[in-house]
Amino acid sequence: GSIVVAVDGTSGSGKSSTCRGVADRLGLRYLDTGAMYRAMTWWMLQHGVDVHDTEAVAAYAEKPTLVSGTDPLAPTISVDGADVSVEIRSDEVNAAVSPVSTVPAVRERLVTLQREIIGEGGIVVEGRDIGSVVWPDAELKVYLTADPAARATRRALESGSTDAERIAATEASLLNRDRIDSGRAVAPLTMADGAVHVDSTDLTLDEVIDLVAGLVAE
Ligand code: C5P
Repeated sequence: GSIVVAVDGTSGSGKSSTCRGVADRLGLRYLDTGAMYRAMTWWMLQHGVDVHDTEAVAAYAEKPTLVSGTDPLAPTISVDGADVSVEIRSDEVNAAVSPVSTVPAVRERLVTLQREIIGEGGIVVEGRDIGSVVWPDAELKVYLTADPAARATRRALESGSTDAERIAATEASLLNRDRIDSGRAVAPLTMADGAVHVDSTDLTLDEVIDLVAGLVAE
């Protein structure tokens, strides 16, 4: 089918796992728009661009060549021909991605790329502004959230750590991104018109996937 499912929400709410699971189950493609902002940010850091200098970031926004793979079982993201799936998850990128994402030239470039990919249809797309800006006509919009402490614990466990300091640092990093993403002037994180709010705090991943896949089927 040509259905588009838009999943927006806070950092660490389980968007990626949920979207991949839903796409796999329903035979749809999958697009991680956060990975595109991360790849852009990684390129800026790699090239010594000051990520807090809005004009500098804007001046380079057209430079990197970004390619997103859309297989939900094996998502890929490459910059200038090199796969950076691992590099874009670093602490450095975590800290720099929200500032880079406030720059209008960055958003214009990436939204254009995203619309080209989504336009082919049959896709689950995750991000912050998919239902509000990128694809307001999505057949289903979901706004996914979770309690910040639960999110941080889940993130830490994913990276193999139960260390309390690591969990606290993860929670601070998630909340800082949410604060910048919700407060920015262009395309702030917000619940889109017509979105269904799903709170994943007390649900297992399978339960969230069931719930969202069920909403698609309705
Ligand atoms: O989804 P993920 O946590 O990987 O996104 C990383 C960052 O990219 C977000 O915190 C946000 O600053 C930015 N982003 C965005 N718009 C999107 C997707 C991600 O601004 N559609």
